[in-house]
Amino acid sequence: MRTAYITHASSLRHEMGQGHPECAQRVSVIGDRLLAKGLLDFVEAFDATPASEEQLMRAHEARHVAELRARAPREGFVAIDPDTAMNPHTWEAALHAAGAVVQATELVVRGGFKRAFCNVRPPGHHAERGQAMGFCFFNNVAIGIRHALDVLGLQRVALIDFDVHHGNGSEDILAGDERVLMVSTFQSRLYPFSGETPRAANMRNVALAPYSTGDALRRAVIEQWSPALRAFDPQMIFISAGFDAHRDDDMSQLGWSDQDYGWVTQRIVEIADECAQGRIVSTLEGGYDLPALARSAELHLRALLGID
Ligand SMILES: [Zn+2]
Repeated sequence: MRTAYITHASSLRHEMGQGHPECAQRVSVIGDRLLAKGLLDFVEAFDATPASEEQLMRAHEARHVAELRARAPREGFVAIDPDTAMNPHTWEAALHAAGAVVQATELVVRGGFKRAFCNVRPPGHHAERGQAMGFCFFNNVAIGIRHALDVLGLQRVALIDFDVHHGNGSEDILAGDERVLMVSTFQSRLYPFSGETPRAANMRNVALAPYSTGDALRRAVIEQWSPALRAFDPQMIFISAGFDAHRDDDMSQLGWSDQDYGWVTQRIVEIADECAQGRIVSTLEGGYDLPALARSAELHLRALLGID
């Protein structure tokens, strides 16, 4: 089984200001951990290619793409919202983060790969059709999904989002697109304060109570995600892999362990093997406690690879 690992140096150059939690070290600690644990021996590594405007506009308004391009600074920072800023490298990093998921999709659908993991930033799942927000500029996973559907001809794909924050951007772009089933868990009453009422029938949103543990995730997966996914019978599965529900992560009040990330990924792999010829593309979203992020991403990749 061939697994692709896609990253890009521009992910390390985009910064949003000193002390910002969505920092370049997030990508480097994952890469360092996978290398130290010998897991990079089991993957084929690729440098991400940038997304084209045509690819971006399968998920975004042309105005949004043009505005971000125009606002990219030559020096210093430009604030997009109170939490989200561009530096001179952001535009390049955002193009490569979106392009990584398109490339991963190509490799998995017609490149002889079964799985792909994109270790890239900026993340994407808060970016709406016309709005950058919440550390996100382009919705990387939605751009990959639209590529699978509109270019590669797939008819049914699933998106699984286990970031602790609701993927409002993915919902904004994909709600009502009957070719997609999106299932997610997120902490209730947390940024971006959406998702408790799904916007369309193709959304299965499971809000988890603050201070709940991985047991609540496991119940959601067994009782809600798995039946919905099996009934939908996807031809491919995308994962918005956020690791910020971890108990060590200050961004939320959920108490997931490293092992919960391995467990949920194993359940996704089982469904992919049943329905989707094993095809999974996973891309990094949140996760801000660097040691917990690195350990959790390791267990996520081990499960994708099928090794203990
Ligand atoms: Zn998050």
